[in-house]
Amino acid sequence: MMLRKTKIVATLGPASSSEKMIARLIMAGVNVVRLNFSHGTAEDHIKRTEIVRKIAANLGRPVGVLCDLQGPKIRIGKFEQGKITLKTGDLFRLDADCALGDQTKVGLDYKNLPQEVVAGNLLLLDDGRITMSVECVVGNQIYCVAQTGGVLSNNKGINLQGGGLAADALTKKDIADLKTAVALDADYIAISFPKNAADMHHAKGLVKKAGGSASIIAKIERAEAITNLEAIIEASDAIMVARGDLGVEVGDAAVPGLQKRMIRMAREQNKLVITATQMMESMISSPVPTRAEVSDVANAVLDGTDAVMLSAETAAGQYPLEAVQAVHRVCVEAEKEYEGLRRTKSELQQLQHTDEAVAAAAIFTSQHLNVKAIAALTQSGNAAQWLSRADSRVPIYALSPNTVARRKLTLHRNVFPFPIDQSGKNKDEILREMEQVLLTAEAVQTDDLVLFTFGEPIGSPGGTNTLKIIKIGEHRPT
Ligand code: PGA
Ligand code: MN
Repeated sequence: MMLRKTKIVATLGPASSSEKMIARLIMAGVNVVRLNFSHGTAEDHIKRTEIVRKIAANLGRPVGVLCDLQGPKIRIGKFEQGKITLKTGDLFRLDADCALGDQTKVGLDYKNLPQEVVAGNLLLLDDGRITMSVECVVGNQIYCVAQTGGVLSNNKGINLQGGGLAADALTKKDIADLKTAVALDADYIAISFPKNAADMHHAKGLVKKAGGSASIIAKIERAEAITNLEAIIEASDAIMVARGDLGVEVGDAAVPGLQKRMIRMAREQNKLVITATQMMESMISSPVPTRAEVSDVANAVLDGTDAVMLSAETAAGQYPLEAVQAVHRVCVEAEKEYEGLRRTKSELQQLQHTDEAVAAAAIFTSQHLNVKAIAALTQSGNAAQWLSRADSRVPIYALSPNTVARRKLTLHRNVFPFPIDQSGKNKDEILREMEQVLLTAEAVQTDDLVLFTFGEPIGSPGGTNTLKIIKIGEHRPT
């Protein structure tokens, strides 16, 4: 059995909406599919989710669904001719009242922008390809001078260098899309451009109100989010290192260091982390990655990320399958060199929870005794989450009767979810069933030592409180 610890998130789009392609991607190792609500209709996303769930059931493999809300991406309007070419030094106006742009001006979908910028600000358009300095603001018009010219086309994004725009993290469209995400039973919902913990609490409240069970992901892509990182992580289940927009706001050179910091902080707080954007960018039109891309994916693995994400590579590229295969092989290879995060905060801290303590004991034991695996019997998935925050040398099997818990565990590094039927069984029968699941999955062999964690009394929902060392095939009733 070839185990890849790092999980792969793949964005679905026009290049990956057919049943055939989705099946190929899942068989190639995609653990979580991302539905990007910046594109496509609710029907598109619902249809794709149905296909994914059907294929996952046929293959007997858990696949998570992540709905990524568009957020308040601030964009320019459209041009008469679709695009213009600006030369450095050109005067140009961003005008909240302009319907259709031309060589001198363009409209804004975020009408408040003129009230939020001042002379001297630098605006970055189209992911920073074009820059404009603000000369003055008159009413709803921002008068600019192009600092870096280029082709500017319809609906390109605008960022303010250094951040600071007030736009709410959840737009009207996001709130409607969040309901769609809950209706399709999303496992994860990603919030774009949150500024602070309050944005995440707001999102969590909306998910709850809509009756959803999705975990929430904060996409870290604003300068303010870096300032409030600790609190945002605390308010979220997971974060995404959203390198595209983040690089525009804080400067590309700051991103690699921030990536390392974010991964470390997320894991210290018992949260998950996805590393995203341009990981295999050239594979949009090339069947092989560049050496730099291979290194980038490998370095995210070495940083300790839970998952790496593909965006346009699988959504709209020419080689979606090859991109997933490349990420798979790079992760597997990089994991051989991973030595774990040194002396994380959580190792130095007092343990706060019983299940956390059992997980710590299991990890310690696995590092000092020749065991083949850790198997956590878990109802909610919590026990497996604790285990996955430490650096385990051996794989962690999460055995859960709960489909939703198994689908969520698709994002966790080094966790492999499997179903288990514990209904009507007593403790000894359940422990034997755990052995059987591991044997059937070819995860262990007779005579292997394995660590089991579970909660007693067994079968009733409740926290993990027990660690048991088992020799496969030798289990005796106690
Ligand atoms: P996006 O977010 O792809 O939705 O823009 C990720 C990023 O900004 O990196
Ligand atoms: Mn973004």
